[in-house]
Amino acid sequence: MKKEFTNHSVEWDSPLFRNTQQEFEAVAERIGMDENVFNRLRWPQRVLVVSVPFRMDDGTVRVVPGYRVQHNEALGPCKGGIRYHPSVNLGEVAALAMLMTWKCALVGLPLGGAKGGVQVDPTPLSRQELQRLTRRYAAEIVNFIGPDHDIPAPDMGTSAQVMAWIMDTYSSLRGYSVPGVVTGKPVEIGGSLGRLEAPGRSVVYSIMEVAEKLKWKLDQDTTVAIQGFGQVGSAAARKLAKIGCRLVAVGDHTGALYNEKGFSFESLHAWTEKNRFLSGYPEGEKITNEELITSKCDILIPAATGGVITKENVKKLRCRLVAEGANGPTTTDASEILDRQNEITVIPDILANAGGVIVSYFEWVQDLQNFFWSEKEINERLFNIMKKTFEEVYARSREERISLRESAMRLAIARVTTAMLARGLFP
Ligand code: NAD
Repeated sequence: MKKEFTNHSVEWDSPLFRNTQQEFEAVAERIGMDENVFNRLRWPQRVLVVSVPFRMDDGTVRVVPGYRVQHNEALGPCKGGIRYHPSVNLGEVAALAMLMTWKCALVGLPLGGAKGGVQVDPTPLSRQELQRLTRRYAAEIVNFIGPDHDIPAPDMGTSAQVMAWIMDTYSSLRGYSVPGVVTGKPVEIGGSLGRLEAPGRSVVYSIMEVAEKLKWKLDQDTTVAIQGFGQVGSAAARKLAKIGCRLVAVGDHTGALYNEKGFSFESLHAWTEKNRFLSGYPEGEKITNEELITSKCDILIPAATGGVITKENVKKLRCRLVAEGANGPTTTDASEILDRQNEITVIPDILANAGGVIVSYFEWVQDLQNFFWSEKEINERLFNIMKKTFEEVYARSREERISLRESAMRLAIARVTTAMLARGLFP
């Protein structure tokens, strides 16, 4: 396919963007998609780059870069999280925005894809520093977001509290309360029940679907390794522990731990509630995060940063199933190797962790209607969407003898293409 607009790449140059773009291009080639739509979807539709000054508690001022990228809005207003992490850059945010376009389309939401981020390590910041940073970032992007066109949510390094500050800043600048401007807020100010646990929950729903197809029993003999013990990783761990699986390895940015007999979720949770991170947890053998990825287990759940399964370590994986809680945890090279070997099943990110954006969509709908649903209703609706989507992805993968990732990408890209062709080209 002829590629236009190639001299643009320097600004976007980052491993995750290259990876995400190449993955799209490869699938597009294989399905022979419309060339004009292809060229449009290779790049984001709009981006905003801001510098964010904020005052530290000692009176000094720091300035950090911030971004908001809207990849595509053919299916509806843009939706996507905001990440605070030192690795954030324009390319990473653009890649994650593109993934959001596919994810929303795959699960059938009337939403396009976006993402935001600030290049900062939030962990050493005090609550007040975090609040000043968030409010200033929100003020810088205030005209770029809104309940009708771009609705942020939490991602790595941000939380319900961060969303509350964004909602309050946006509302203060507009002069009236706008709960629908962000999702993942505290329930008391228009957040949805079940939102916090939703991405971890959907990771586990998709594992249960695979287990059913492969006729696996999920029980005490099923071992699980999870990288990342934040919103996604800990919610997945909680639900897997409830089912009875054995959590043998767990890690966060402070390091990782292994215990063949299994960790108690309650004890890990109590520790991180008190100490924030896993560092210092008294049980288990200390291992590195790299060792966690290749540790012996049935189910590996990367639920932290992207690009952790690479062509260097993919052949050392000792699991039977990878459920991608994180966005973009497997590089394209590694993905191709996994497809060729056909020994490990991979539930791709745009399917496995889609519960986050599904319940964010429910939250947005509830905010717009000022009418709130019960947690039971939310979890049932989430389960139904996950089940229907999984069945579609699985059926196509069997019919066309392709991986679950390829199948999910083909379905998602076809839906976005249909919408773009139906809308036509302006002017
Ligand atoms: P979080 O900030 O709540 O937790 C992140 C966890 O990852 C923490 O335990 C942190 O210590 C760990 N971590 C960070 N850097 C690491 C590193 N280099 N090595 C090992 N561990 C590291 O974030 P989250 O919301 O749970 O997001 C985790 C992943 O899930 C991200 O890829 C995010 O894009 C994806 N995701 C999040 C949501 C959501 O709604 N929060 C939805 C879908 C996907």
